[in-house]
Amino acid sequence: MSDIHDLCIRPAKKLGQNFLVDKNIVKLEIKEAEVSADETVLEIGAGYGALTLELAKMAKKVIAVEIDDELVPLLEKRLAEEGLKNVDIICEDVLKAEMPPFDKCVSNIPYQISSKIIEMLGKYGEFSVLIMQKEFAERLVAQPGEKNYSRISILAQYHFIPVFVRKVGKKCFYPVPKVDSAIVKLFPRKVKPFVSDENFFFQFVKAVFIHKNQKLWKAVSHSKREMEVDKKILSELGKKLTDADVKVKDLDIDRVAAASNEMYALFKEKGLKI
Ligand code: SAM
Repeated sequence: MSDIHDLCIRPAKKLGQNFLVDKNIVKLEIKEAEVSADETVLEIGAGYGALTLELAKMAKKVIAVEIDDELVPLLEKRLAEEGLKNVDIICEDVLKAEMPPFDKCVSNIPYQISSKIIEMLGKYGEFSVLIMQKEFAERLVAQPGEKNYSRISILAQYHFIPVFVRKVGKKCFYPVPKVDSAIVKLFPRKVKPFVSDENFFFQFVKAVFIHKNQKLWKAVSHSKREMEVDKKILSELGKKLTDADVKVKDLDIDRVAAASNEMYALFKEKGLKI
């Protein structure tokens, strides 16, 4: 089987093309995903197939999404060389295409769209095993009060229980990136925190986590742009919240959801646009 150095690929930085070249990490990621022969696996950013070929040997079907149309013929050739016929290649932007049904997602994701991919996977709600930048992984699993606790922690933890599996060193990739990576598992939550309105919740989270070191009422009062409401009104409403005097960074996801629901009710009471 040909490897990356025989293939004359010129990796595109803007597409996050750091290809996995350490076969042990490929094996480990697939093992963590516990792929079985009756499953359809989604792979986001198949590249030249480091993961795709191994996934295809284990799964019933692989849906391999790859935006770079120069890589696709290479991927097709490698699959043909191995006699693997169970891979559907979708040459599109994963953020724009509608995905067919799948059982789990196993991917080494393009780093520049990591947040958007988590958002997208949230909509499908399937178990996922992903390689991503280590710093980003630390934000996904961060808990209240921790340095990395942020909007993306809430977003990920609303849909999933994220688990940090292990660090993956820079040298496992070609070209070698500036930062380390990590394998993360996303287990779909059986019960999500109750929110009155998901769109309002995500808007509220975005607004208050910009000011995560402030007390909740103050963060709300500073969210004129995100909430599209006058500062004076926001300040008045923010002070009515149960956790008004708690810093945003110290609120767990259930308390953030509760605050968002209170705010939603106050918006409705005042006839404000939602
Ligand atoms: N899976 C391969 C591997 O492990 O070697 C490649 C991983 S590389 C980190 C990310 C891949 O995602 C690249 O091949 C890149 O072209 C692709 N990609 C980047 N943006 C994309 C998008 N919006 N939709 C689909 N694929 C994308």
